[in-house]
Amino acid sequence: MLRQERSAGSELGLEAEKWTREGKLFPDDLALRVVKHWLDGGRWEGFLLDGFPRTLGQAQAFDDALFAHGLKDDLIVLHLDLVESAIRARVADRLTCCDCGATFGAAFHKLDESRPCPACGGMLERRADDTSAALENRLSQYRELTLPVCEYYQASRRLVKIDASQSREAIHEAIMTSALAEDEQ
Ligand SMILES: [Zn+2]
Repeated sequence: MLRQERSAGSELGLEAEKWTREGKLFPDDLALRVVKHWLDGGRWEGFLLDGFPRTLGQAQAFDDALFAHGLKDDLIVLHLDLVESAIRARVADRLTCCDCGATFGAAFHKLDESRPCPACGGMLERRADDTSAALENRLSQYRELTLPVCEYYQASRRLVKIDASQSREAIHEAIMTSALAEDEQ
C-alpha cells in the first residue's frame, strides 16, 4: 500500500516516507488514512496487513473501519513472536531490494550489496531504518506502543501467537493452520 502511494507520488506517500526514513512509527491517523484509502477502494477479496496496526489507537480505529465493511469478525491477528536479541541479529543481516522491496537474509542467501536482487535483478541495500539507532528506537516504541495491541486482540480472542524462532517452513505451516482453522468456524 505504501509503495503504491509513494510511486503515485501522493501526499500520503510523501508523508509516509518521511516517517519511515527516520525509523519512527507513523502517527495513528496517517497509518489509518493509508489503510482506509485502500480498504474503501474495494479492489480486494481477502487481505494481509503486515506491521499494522502498531498502536492501540490504530487497532481500535481499524476495528471501526472493519465493522463498517462488515468484516470485524473475520479478522485474525498473527503475532510473530521473537526475542529481541534474535531480532537484532536478523535486521543486521537484512538486505532490501530498492526496486521490488523484497528482503533477504544476506548470510542465508549468500548475498551482499554488490549482487543483484534474486527476485528482479534490482539493486540491494541496507535500509536506512535498519541502522542500530533506528532499530533500538523501533524496539522501544514496540514495547511501549505495540505490546498493548497484542493484549487488546488477546482480550477479544483474535490473537494467534506464532513462535518466529522456528524455520520459515514451520512458521508458514503454523500460519496456514491458524488461517484454515479460522475458515472452518
Ligand atoms: Zn528486487
